[in-house]
Amino acid sequence: MTTRRDILIGSGAIAAASTLPAPAVLGQARPRVVVIGGGAGGVTAAKYIARDSEKKIAVTLIEENPNYQTCFHSNLFLGGFRDYASILHDYAKLPGHGVDVARARAQIIDRDRKQVVLADGRRIAYDRVVVSPGIDLKYDSVPGWGKEHEERMPHAWKPGAQTRLLKRRLDAVPNGGVIVMIAPPNPFRCPPGPYERISMFAHVLKRTGKTKSKIFIIDPKESFSKQALFQEGWDKHYKGLVEWLGPKVHDGVKSVDSKTGTVVTGFETYKNCALVNVIPAQMAGAIARDSGLANQTGYCPILPESMKSALDANVFVLGDSTIAGDMPKSAFSANSQAKVAAMTIRGELIGARTFPARYANTCWSLIETEDTVKVGGAYEAKDGKITASSTFISRTGETAELRKQTQAENMGWYAGIIEDMFG
Ligand code: FAD
Repeated sequence: MTTRRDILIGSGAIAAASTLPAPAVLGQARPRVVVIGGGAGGVTAAKYIARDSEKKIAVTLIEENPNYQTCFHSNLFLGGFRDYASILHDYAKLPGHGVDVARARAQIIDRDRKQVVLADGRRIAYDRVVVSPGIDLKYDSVPGWGKEHEERMPHAWKPGAQTRLLKRRLDAVPNGGVIVMIAPPNPFRCPPGPYERISMFAHVLKRTGKTKSKIFIIDPKESFSKQALFQEGWDKHYKGLVEWLGPKVHDGVKSVDSKTGTVVTGFETYKNCALVNVIPAQMAGAIARDSGLANQTGYCPILPESMKSALDANVFVLGDSTIAGDMPKSAFSANSQAKVAAMTIRGELIGARTFPARYANTCWSLIETEDTVKVGGAYEAKDGKITASSTFISRTGETAELRKQTQAENMGWYAGIIEDMFG
């Protein structure tokens, strides 16, 4: 049996290609899949490839962190609807499905040699590699804001310490304090996410009686996901607390100063803000870009029938790093895409049966206690891209009972996807 020691070989400069395990072909030694990124796309792919191939495929998952904090439902943590422990998960059960979990950072994919190079120089040979590293932030996309300012003006758009920092900062906003969110341009991770977050900001202010406070959203977009539903909800639950400003109203963010908490737009200067949440422009995770899998958009083109990279037949790209046609960048999408990739890989490596690709997504957003809305669709490969075959969205004016049921669905979905990934 192959062990992890056999797979992780030598240090970069001295790891001769001849000493590496040779990629297998159908009918020979156990083929090997390396999965980069233990998030919504990567964990699902690793588990489904290993488990459904009955361990006929060797699967190594490379993840740099010991735990995975979901960004999904992190807004519910901000709002006080979940505790932090409930959005933190570990990889302990994956070996039981045949997944070898390696805690390491993948530096680059040597696609000519079909090897993943780790940050410490070790190399792992693969027959197929699955890349699901999520997003990177464009630190130069908001004038005056960069990595060195994220402590004072948090983004909390990648998981970890930033999420807890934003929660502490939100809870410390005084009555009368001003909150500004700088929303991201398209395309970005979780289209309704900023607006659900605004709802949670407003919920906390209202619950703690800080009704003299005010929240401004400086948005570079003319419109946003579920806009009518959010605006109806803000008007109903948080009247006077939330103000959304589109680009024609604010004329762009001209500068921010994290020391003084200042945001300058074309028309207005917001001084001494109690909290500025900067959600910058985004791009595919570094490993995907550095390995030549992204195009000029900063994201990775894929083949819609398989989630295979459009640039390399041995590489699959999933989730937020991809250009996935009509599908939004969501955990639901990444999980659904991972199952198509896993099926295709099992077909290619061990001759398992395959079916036409079918994808699905639903994004729920909590606006106020038991008042949740959703948007979603079913998707297929059509006209060279992932195309929506049907869509649905909550309606304005729905009954409280229906919204309560929608929130129950939301909680059920979270429990289900976590079990699907980590169970
Ligand atoms: P991720 O889940 O981010 O996983 C990437 C993993 O790769 C990470 O664990 C990272 O550590 C690892 N990694 C990256 N590079 C390397 C490397 N070089 N080596 C080793 N490891 C690496 N989606 C929903 O469906 N529903 C929601 O309600 C929802 N709410 C959201 C709310 C917020 C505030 C945010 C920010 C996002 C939300 N999302 C939601 C979106 C969802 O979190 C992402 O779309 C999803 O996580 C994308 O999955 P992924 O596999 O592409 O990336």
